[in-house]
Amino acid sequence: MDYISTRGGGNAVSAARAIIKGLATDGGLFVPQTIPSIDKDFIQSLLNLSYQERAKKVLSLYLTDFTNQEINDCVENAYGNNKFDTDKVVPTVQVEDNNYLLELWHGPTSAFKDMALQLLPQFISTSLKKLGDKNELVILVATSGDTGKAALDGFKDVPQTKIIVFYPQEGVSKIQRLQMLTQEGNNVAVVAVQGNFDDAQSGVKQIFNDTSYNELLAQKGFQLSSANSINWGRLLPQIVYYFSSYADLINMGKIKLGDKVNFTVPTGNFGDILAGFYAKCMGLPVNRLICASNANNVLTDFLTTGTYDKNREFFKTISPSMDILISSNLERLLYHMTKDTEKVKKWMQQLQQDGKYTVDDATLKAIQETFCAGYLNDTDTMDCIKSVYAKDKYVADTHTAVAWQVAQDYTAKTNETIPMVILSTASPYKFNDSVLTALGEDIADKDEFALLDKLAQINKDPIPQGLAKLKTAPILHNKVCEKQHMINSVSEFLNI
Ligand SMILES: *Cc1c(COP(=O)(O)O)cnc(C)c1O
Repeated sequence: MDYISTRGGGNAVSAARAIIKGLATDGGLFVPQTIPSIDKDFIQSLLNLSYQERAKKVLSLYLTDFTNQEINDCVENAYGNNKFDTDKVVPTVQVEDNNYLLELWHGPTSAFKDMALQLLPQFISTSLKKLGDKNELVILVATSGDTGKAALDGFKDVPQTKIIVFYPQEGVSKIQRLQMLTQEGNNVAVVAVQGNFDDAQSGVKQIFNDTSYNELLAQKGFQLSSANSINWGRLLPQIVYYFSSYADLINMGKIKLGDKVNFTVPTGNFGDILAGFYAKCMGLPVNRLICASNANNVLTDFLTTGTYDKNREFFKTISPSMDILISSNLERLLYHMTKDTEKVKKWMQQLQQDGKYTVDDATLKAIQETFCAGYLNDTDTMDCIKSVYAKDKYVADTHTAVAWQVAQDYTAKTNETIPMVILSTASPYKFNDSVLTALGEDIADKDEFALLDKLAQINKDPIPQGLAKLKTAPILHNKVCEKQHMINSVSEFLNI
């Protein structure tokens, strides 16, 4: 199966090439030329399999240029070796009648980014080998916290890759900083930028766009790449857990093969929820996909009115991984809904120029047949954490709480009795200050580790290994750079 650009430019390419390139030459995103379809027997065949085996089956439908051995190795390296703190990798947990949480945060960095960022580096390394590309891929990341650590952990010691992560010196939490500064691996670098996240991100963009520097790198055998969520190799791993959760619901006796389920997804860049859309298009019995946002509710407005307008106030919320005003992966949905690359190109140009675009009525209607949307402000998010704990003794993180409440609002409005699976995207330990405050605890004067201990007294799960060991882990990185000198840090790291 080949991949084409959402904007119609360039030739169709193999999955391996799409993963190495990241972005299509015309600035569009790679999408599969056709979406593979599955039948009931396919779902039936997943029931008695481990998560890894389920992943291999789903991935092989899209990675038709990979051998079974290659897919096997990628999946085992990503999800095997006890990297996840549960054998199930991604458990589906019943919290209330008809309400389930799909816990996506049992990986090494305790956030859902691990699901994709453990597998993407394996895909990249395998693709380089398959294609005979000799260059070493240098992954540049600017992070506001979670992505940096997840990318470092995924890429560490992966052949033919190096990774350098820039984070704003004062812009990440103490835990997030420690997670990065203690990162092991012989191909990793972590650099604090004297500036904010935008400075770090602009710096990375400048390096990507510096033609002469990229030529110099090519001469030295290096090629820059990014690990952000527009890469097909980051989206694809996320399709798997929709299938896996459905199979688990059958195994739990909650649904019969063929019954429909709803999924509510806490959304930022529209990657996670789009993976659910692919699963539905493939034939998984999904009724609705409900898009949950925080106060940055640009997607709620779009899915309700058909107008995407990023010209609005930006809010810093307690669910920071969803503080996004440009949801890049929406472009893929627009392509699949219209199959009209000219239209998609036009809308993306309008977004670039005016910060907004409006889709036609037919497209909006088609989108609304599958998607619903809702949002929650910070106060209601705190209330939700408190009430879910009071009612169900379940401690939800802030992102999960947004989705939980949006899901309840949806059910109340529609009176549906269809099982609701809510995607849980972070361990509550990762956002312990907001979670503890919501639960009525006094967090004043407590350091991060005291907060972890406090939460451990309340939560059913112990403190994740990766966070617990930070207290004693040695600091391995100490580089700091001025925001205009990030390029020097790259050269220094690559010894050029
Ligand atoms: C990245 C992230 C999200 C949003 O996922 P998208 O794929 O960007 O929509 C939600 N919750 C957490 C904890 C995240 O890290």
